[in-house]
Amino acid sequence: CNVIEVSNLSKRYRGGTAVDDLSFTVEPGRVTGFLGPNGAGKSTTIRLILGLDRPTSGHATVNGRPYASLARPLHEVGALLEAGDLHPTRTAREHLRWLARSNGIGERRIGEVLEETGMAGAAGKRAKTFSLGMKQRLGVAAALLGDPGVLILDEPVNGLDPEGVVWIRNLMKRLAAEGRTVLVSSHLMAEMALTAQHLVVIGRGRLLVDEPMEKFLASH
Ligand code: ADP
Ligand code: ADP
Repeated sequence: CNVIEVSNLSKRYRGGTAVDDLSFTVEPGRVTGFLGPNGAGKSTTIRLILGLDRPTSGHATVNGRPYASLARPLHEVGALLEAGDLHPTRTAREHLRWLARSNGIGERRIGEVLEETGMAGAAGKRAKTFSLGMKQRLGVAAALLGDPGVLILDEPVNGLDPEGVVWIRNLMKRLAAEGRTVLVSSHLMAEMALTAQHLVVIGRGRLLVDEPMEKFLASH
């Protein structure tokens, strides 16, 4: 349960190949770091896992089923995508309400995730006034809204202040320790070493490393 499975996944564009025959499994109970330089194919892989793009070949499943993007309830998978689109004139709380309403999630839970992400004080402020770090925090709040078993965060550290970086790191570790599945992408090895217990590295869309962090650090 709560397993992400990527099997021979490929995505080709007219200009080239973003994801090239990628296979790996993301297990619950630990943070899995998804590392690679910019352009390696991390965001494309995450979009394929979430069913936001169609693979050219192969497949990705969450809990054994392909992810049909909007059919999944928020308690199954929560995701923070890069450059998540915010409605500039809506407040933080209104964004969360918009997501909550179709999922039977109430005001109490909205209050909880605002607290948890340090956004309670900014709940009534419009998104256009937010720094990148605050946008990331709101994106994390949205991902947490359904108390999901699987959490997928694409470059969550981008734009966060140092305090925010430590906060998100500890949050991911705690959620994994609770038995959830956490997949987090980054182009920074040092960040992954401090966050993840398991490491998946890709380059040019291909799998380079898939092993426990301790093993990777001992051999490199
Ligand atoms: P990462 O998230 O690791 O930075 P991406 O998944 O964003 O990498 O990109 C992987 C490769 O796929 C890059 O070369 C990028 O230019 C290309 N790519 C991504 N999306 C598209 C698209 N919609 N059309 C064409 N090429 C794309
Ligand atoms: P407007 O008030 O600008 O007309 P709508 O409420 O009609 O906006 O929303 C238009 C579309 O924008 C929606 O169907 C939805 O896809 C998207 N959208 C609106 N608000 C949000 C939000 N808070 N989070 C994510 N998507 C949103």
